[in-house]
Amino acid sequence: MNKVLLILTGGTICMERSRETGALRPATEESFRAAVPELFETPDTEVHLLSFTPLIDSSDVNPQDWKKMAQTIAKHYDDYDGFVILHGTDTMSYSGSALSFMLEGLNKPVVFTGSQLPIGVLRSDAKENLLTAIEIASARDENNDAIVPEVTIYFESRLFRANRTTKRNAEHFAAFKSYNYPPLAQAGLHITYNVHLVHYSDPKAQLKLHTDTDNHVVVLKLFPGITEQVVRSILHIRDLKAVVLETYGAGNAPSYKWLYKLLKEAVDKGIIIVNKTQCSTGMVDMELYEVSSNLIKAGVLSGFDITTEALLSKLMYLLGEHPDNIERVKILLQKDLCGEITIHN
Ligand code: ASP
Repeated sequence: MNKVLLILTGGTICMERSRETGALRPATEESFRAAVPELFETPDTEVHLLSFTPLIDSSDVNPQDWKKMAQTIAKHYDDYDGFVILHGTDTMSYSGSALSFMLEGLNKPVVFTGSQLPIGVLRSDAKENLLTAIEIASARDENNDAIVPEVTIYFESRLFRANRTTKRNAEHFAAFKSYNYPPLAQAGLHITYNVHLVHYSDPKAQLKLHTDTDNHVVVLKLFPGITEQVVRSILHIRDLKAVVLETYGAGNAPSYKWLYKLLKEAVDKGIIIVNKTQCSTGMVDMELYEVSSNLIKAGVLSGFDITTEALLSKLMYLLGEHPDNIERVKILLQKDLCGEITIHN
């Protein structure tokens, strides 16, 4: 019998409609259990439930909550074959990315899921997402090894590597997309796993927890007409340590002299600046156009094909891990740590 720990953190999937006001509010553990009795009666998987209190809307999730999720998994790591985390969809890609960095040497599945409609609603996508996530978290191959032992998001019949995802739809059930990496599995009548795409840690690795983060980071999105004053005030934020610079196309920026001067001054002061294209699909290539070669001269690093969600959480994790070693942070930013970028280390 496989054992899965189901961790409730909040989000629409954990909500119910109040009879009195009609508003959505967090369900009680009892009413959640009552909405999916089949979950606790499956013949080959034993599901245990652990609920965070209070359950929260994922707009309120912060690095302390990532820490709590990662610590919960580490605490129960030896007792379960896999983990499912119920989480609001709004920031699920951030939390999934953060946990992929925090849980080094992970050899068991950690599957995030949620829903667009609450679990008690007749047309809800919650049950399918939840039941399939449980099946994926407990799935084993013929050698009895976990099939997808990484941090993933299961949503609307697709399993994605969490640190490759973005919430892209606030209306449809298919809320997530992984633009630069194919799905790890598709669920139809059967669940088809694309095992050649799965990221495996060393099978002998012990789980190592990293929960220190540093959120002195900012996203600076370029747009036509952006002024020197705006860029200057962002780069002069007190104690700023890193900037996600959202550029155009293949990583291009306007050729204003003041821009390169400000970026170079910031880099010289020890601020890390990483180039992330505003395009969802494709790679940063700062050598393609003359305008962007100036970014290289200013000391801006490539973000390759990383998502903004993964880049922000990677920066927070690396700055927390190596608080006094910016050079080490820069080196690790240029490496693929757990499948978040398409490069060969
Ligand atoms: N606002 C909700 C949340 O992210 C939306 C959802 O769960 O889909 O918690």
